Amino acid sequence: MYIVMLGGPGSGKGSASKILTNQLNIPHISTGDMFREQIKKQTELGKLADSYISKGQLVPDEVTIQVVKDRLSWEDAKNGVILDGFPRTEEQAKALDQILEEQGKKVDLAPELRIPDEIIIQRVVNRVMCSNKECGAIYNLKFNPPKKTGICDICGSELISRSDDNEQTIKDRLSTYYKNSKVLVDYYKAKGVLYPICPEDPTAGNASVRVVEKIIEKCHQMN
Ligand code: AMP
Repeated sequence: MYIVMLGGPGSGKGSASKILTNQLNIPHISTGDMFREQIKKQTELGKLADSYISKGQLVPDEVTIQVVKDRLSWEDAKNGVILDGFPRTEEQAKALDQILEEQGKKVDLAPELRIPDEIIIQRVVNRVMCSNKECGAIYNLKFNPPKKTGICDICGSELISRSDDNEQTIKDRLSTYYKNSKVLVDYYKAKGVLYPICPEDPTAGNASVRVVEKIIEKCHQMN
């Protein structure tokens, strides 16, 4: 299964992808996470990516496409992947099709998470995540707080926030998303793989679990 998660920043793509990766046993590939790792390691790629990310802008297509192409060539990606945050432009969507086509594969499903902007902003400015990369649990200080302030419930590591999770940057990221998303939604709709999801209660603690249930159900219907 090659799944492309669509939805704005803070729509819950990351949380849903983390659950899906375990249930479907295929890797979760997040371009945002990959860039953040490079930024942390201070690589050339990281420095370049940071110059765009810190301004709420997209990293150029040619750079992002190459990063994903390399990752998709790994052995663990041969039976499927969950792409989170990629593609974000039509150019990237076309490049992805071409990469997959070369391996005799295609995008099977594009779930699109639809969440109102006010909720996205509340989610993002209150978002904290586990500093332990192996764990990566995500919390919301308002809607889904950890039991102990600043500490991950699951592994006990320190919780951190993303430097681009502030109100101005999220507004810039949302406007970039809306500028680019229509073309992607139309692209996957035309291919017959778009699956819009409007969570009934997006602020509920189990919202991601419900989203994943719908995606798994859809996958079963397709088989
Ligand atoms: P995310 O964690 O998906 O919200 O990504 C954080 C930031 O990384 C974005 O705001 C972009 O600046 C950059 N980024 C992530 N994925 C892409 C992509 N597919 N194309 C361009 N830039 C990206």
